[in-house]
Amino acid sequence: MPTYRYRAVEAGSCETCAEGFETLQRLSEPALTACPDCQGAVRRVIGKPQNLVNRRWNTKKMLSDGNLKRLGFKKLVKEGDGKYRDVLAD
Ligand SMILES: [Zn+2]
Repeated sequence: MPTYRYRAVEAGSCETCAEGFETLQRLSEPALTACPDCQGAVRRVIGKPQNLVNRRWNTKKMLSDGNLKRLGFKKLVKEGDGKYRDVLAD
């Protein structure tokens, strides 16, 4: 299902639609006309979804040692002589 982006038509709307929000919809579904939170008028924004910008977490945090370890990744750091050490293992 494609993601559609919506934004408030007028100012004075709630935070959700003032900043714009995204929703998954089937192609056959009609476009939303009202914000799900405040029922204010919204319009569909055509263009690339900006969900990467809107994500609360950033790449740096995502790739932090703690998070990688939590998710079960290994982080191999080259030690020289073709050897690698899993820095998350200790
Ligand atoms: Zn709203």
